Amino acid sequence: MTTQLDYAPVLERSDADGRAISGDRSRFDISSLTIDIQARGVRMDAPMERRAGGAGPTDLGMLWIEGYRVTAPTTNVGDTPYSLRAEDEGYGIYVDGVRLAGAQAQKRPRYYDLKTADGIPYEQIALLHLDSLATTVIQTCTYWGNADQCTFCGIGVSLDAGRTIVKKTPEMLAEVAVAARDLDGAVDATLTTGSTRGVDRGARYVAKCAAAVKEASGLPVEVQFEPPYNLDVIDEVGDMGIDSVGIHLETFDPEVLARVAPGKARTGIETYFAAWERAVKVFGEGQVSTYVILGMGEDPEITIAGAKRAIDIGVYPLLVPLRPVVGSLMADWPSPPSEYMEPIYRRVQTYMTLRGMDSNSAKAGCARCQACSGLKSLDAPIGAVPLTIGRGPLDLA
Ligand code: SF4
Repeated sequence: MTTQLDYAPVLERSDADGRAISGDRSRFDISSLTIDIQARGVRMDAPMERRAGGAGPTDLGMLWIEGYRVTAPTTNVGDTPYSLRAEDEGYGIYVDGVRLAGAQAQKRPRYYDLKTADGIPYEQIALLHLDSLATTVIQTCTYWGNADQCTFCGIGVSLDAGRTIVKKTPEMLAEVAVAARDLDGAVDATLTTGSTRGVDRGARYVAKCAAAVKEASGLPVEVQFEPPYNLDVIDEVGDMGIDSVGIHLETFDPEVLARVAPGKARTGIETYFAAWERAVKVFGEGQVSTYVILGMGEDPEITIAGAKRAIDIGVYPLLVPLRPVVGSLMADWPSPPSEYMEPIYRRVQTYMTLRGMDSNSAKAGCARCQACSGLKSLDAPIGAVPLTIGRGPLDLA
């Protein structure tokens, strides 16, 4: 169990008010802190923008901790030792009054106050996740509301709550993207979609929307879709100028996949690999990614082996902890502890390094942002992370 004592070595000095402050950034284990905050959450002692419901990061606060993007639970975090406090400039992460790290919190984006000419709030068209514009272009899914529904997903939740609209058009998204870039500093756009029964599974429409965003704003774009029935669709997506794609298997463990995502299980793991291989040919190594959700009962060794196989063909496995979405079928599941997450992160990240892949590869999208994963924090410069703080030597096997 990670405790305050794990971070004791960072405490070097106090400020004028006697408040303990952290030492040099390079002296403490920012990756372990980030991963633990992602797992245990942070209590809000200061107001902060957060997101409820939806298909992406939900019911979470969005932060930069020592410069790293981090999404972290901010509700139902009764036993977390971490709290976020406002400071003169930005925020601090504290445990029992001891400051561990500096933080910045996302402010309410200014473009949220704008509307389209026909009165649709921009906020219902696309959200800002830290510096990434994100939207679900078709907020329905052929799997939703039946036996095939992915148990971790909340795509119908925000629609039912009236927080979004069922279908966004390329024109709407282009308009919002320009505003998000100019008013709030968006640096890329992530567009996902519920799956359709069509041969393209929804890929053509989400790519059309992304192409409009890119043309209007110049932002790099990622689109996410299920493996098309006809893989030639992936070439069409590439021809539209899309930068990166996410084709999300969610777990490499076949038994877990059958339980949590029956529709995806029917598609089959080998079909994902075939789609990834085609996509890597079109978009390049590191521009194709898959979410890998940890904490759903999967076998870690099967997970790591699957991640390595994906890396071998140029696919970035974006490891994330299960974040139970209110209203989803897994709403009552716990998030996995950092003690479970961190060794898997480290083994996969080490393999990626050996294969020349890193978290800076992706031009756009979730694999570029990385706020929901602990992988990027492991990219800290060699020597910056004291490998033995509170834990003993790390298993890098
Ligand atoms: S395929 Fe699964 S995760 Fe994706 S939108 Fe449909 S139900 Fe949600």
